[in-house]
Amino acid sequence: MPIIRVALDVPLSTLFDYVVEKNTEVIPGQRVLVPFGRKQVLGVAMECVEQSELSAARIKPVTIVLDDVPPLPQELLALLRFCSDYYHHPLGITVLSALPTRLRAVEPVTVKQSLDYTLSPAGKALDIATLPKRRVVQQRILQALREAPLSGAQLRNLSPSAPAALKALLEAGWVETCAPELRATHTFNNAHALTSEQQQAVDAVTQQTGYGCFLLHGITGSGKTEIYVHLMHEMLQRGGQVLLLVPEINLTPQLENYFRSRFPDVDLVSLHSGLADGERAQNWLKAQSGEARIVLGTRLSVFTPLPKLSLILVDEEHDSSFKQQDGLRYSARDVAIFRANQRGVPIVLGSATPSLESWFNAQSGRYKLLKLTQRAVQPATLPVVRCMDITKLPLHEGLSEPLLTAIETRLQRKEQSLIFINRRGYAPVLMCTSCGWLSECKHCAGKLVLHQKDRSLRCHHCGAQQRVPHACPGCGDADLKPVGIGTQRLEETLQTRFPEARILRVDRDSTRNKGAWSAMRKQIHDGEADILIGTQMLAKGHDFPNLTLVGVISPDGALYSADFRASEKLFAQLTQVGGRAGRADKAGEVIVQTAFPNHPLFQALRAHDYEIWAQTLLAERQMAGFPPFVYQAMLSAEGKQESDAYIFLKQARTAAMELKMPVEVYGVVPAPMPKRANHYRAQLLVQSDKRKALGEFLRAWKPVLDALPAGKLRWVLDVDPMEF
Ligand code: ADP
Ligand code: ZN
Ligand code: ZN
Repeated sequence: MPIIRVALDVPLSTLFDYVVEKNTEVIPGQRVLVPFGRKQVLGVAMECVEQSELSAARIKPVTIVLDDVPPLPQELLALLRFCSDYYHHPLGITVLSALPTRLRAVEPVTVKQSLDYTLSPAGKALDIATLPKRRVVQQRILQALREAPLSGAQLRNLSPSAPAALKALLEAGWVETCAPELRATHTFNNAHALTSEQQQAVDAVTQQTGYGCFLLHGITGSGKTEIYVHLMHEMLQRGGQVLLLVPEINLTPQLENYFRSRFPDVDLVSLHSGLADGERAQNWLKAQSGEARIVLGTRLSVFTPLPKLSLILVDEEHDSSFKQQDGLRYSARDVAIFRANQRGVPIVLGSATPSLESWFNAQSGRYKLLKLTQRAVQPATLPVVRCMDITKLPLHEGLSEPLLTAIETRLQRKEQSLIFINRRGYAPVLMCTSCGWLSECKHCAGKLVLHQKDRSLRCHHCGAQQRVPHACPGCGDADLKPVGIGTQRLEETLQTRFPEARILRVDRDSTRNKGAWSAMRKQIHDGEADILIGTQMLAKGHDFPNLTLVGVISPDGALYSADFRASEKLFAQLTQVGGRAGRADKAGEVIVQTAFPNHPLFQALRAHDYEIWAQTLLAERQMAGFPPFVYQAMLSAEGKQESDAYIFLKQARTAAMELKMPVEVYGVVPAPMPKRANHYRAQLLVQSDKRKALGEFLRAWKPVLDALPAGKLRWVLDVDPMEF
């Protein structure tokens, strides 16, 4: 009897064996319904085998083999196996979590066939000139369909009112739908002649045969996106599919519309968690059928089946949102590199501030470095960066006089300013001036942030919320003072100082409502805001042409943080926000308020010299023995009882030592946030200077961890951790 081995959504690292009825056939990659315990569950057939280790009597039959959609391709199954193996995550969970929700459900999925439009016999017989003149769009559509059948996207391209006109033509019976023809050519709106640097980069990638990893290092505004567009064009001409991965925050309708405008008749789909389940499943299936030629997506789209995949692009490759922070803790960038290699196609990682890992690989020659050193639009130069030494300058509610003057000048010139501060709320903590009481969260090792608008104290870690007390809970004194500055306080200060200015605050609180952020973006573009106050949300990938000043408030925490990646992130963030200033024909200025104006980070920022900065950081990391010179895995545990987490980790540590393998096992330490939402948290770091040695160790260690008594404790193993 043929046996199939099935991946199920259960936290065990094995597959499950089932028998197939005589006259049914199962192909690996097909979804199946099988009995598991007392339930019927959905799984994916991973392989067919002749024999099982289980006795025949214990093997249950498959209930149903689903054939509503084509089986997952072998290549995708292999990619998922690799991820399960590399991240030491159960295979079944890995496979199932890569599927869109609809494909994880038992109800069959109906595949929507997209249709083209053509003239009906009546339409062919019609004399177009007899139509009334005012029905000009209808005439245009009929004229175009005389030449050839067209897709909905192509018709929409003829006029904004094409959908209404088309509807009328369908109702009149002059137009009908037909199965789409495979189009060999596409329209390409080539907006710019490439600069020679851009052309060299495009050539390097298009001339690559087989796998090759390229690091595209280009300053902000140097035209990286333009390179992606030209590469897409080339790959489409060759009949391929292109996957473009972007960070979470960037996936706005604008980005999608932008690529659509460059390839108006190419089938482009996006894949991200903001889509409705149905739409996500349809887009995925369109990618799987090869119909969608460009796939634009966030990290989860790295698992999209793409039969004609011929290029992967990863934009802002340094962005931490490519790393998933729960479940399968994969790095979509790293998985993309593996996938390109597996498939034998080029991959391009683009950034103005590459991750140190990628930079290191480019230095060692493992990746090929492509550089863009000039801004693409000629008069646009890089902004001037000035550091204000806040140990020498008096501050008014956190703002220095030179920054205030610079804002005032912009107001007079009717230009926009952006004040960047990475703290939302009014003040990070409330303090009693008589006894020193601080607003602390009862459930976390953190402070409650003061939110002035609704007079609340809120924990940004666990979400706990309470009203601001009238008097100090410690001593009863009424004099409670907000300490430090958040976005709301900055807004208040600036509004008092510049009563006429239109101020827009952009943070997670002000953009919570659906559509709020896109409305604000429009306001900024339409020049309806003078001063923007924002957190990192405002830093990424938006082009505000009238913005000429960026002020940065209190970035110093990251310079001496316990997280060794904090300064790398800060440099990337400041380069990004700085890049917002002066993109069009107006020069920009960046003013950073800091107590350490001579820190190498600020020196490099002033000189716009990423390479010097990367070199400094690499030297530091090498001395300290940190990534990218070593590979790490982090075992974290959290429990309601403090001792539970420590006992578990100490046992894990002992087991690790007993394996006597060539890896460094550190001590058990509290997590940087030692208590969160009433759970005590601790961690254990393991590292090696060889990826392979670490992998082999983890393979031996993981089953031991699985066997340790954990009780109610939660623990996770994070390979290549980004956050501690
Ligand atoms: P990046 O992605 O590197 O930040 P973009 O691709 O967004 O840069 O390009 C910045 C600006 O320069 C855009 O307005 C783009 O249209 C323009 N641009 C890009 N390449 C060229 C070129 N070769 N000639 C003229 N303008 C260009
Ligand atoms: Zn007090
Ligand atoms: Zn809390």
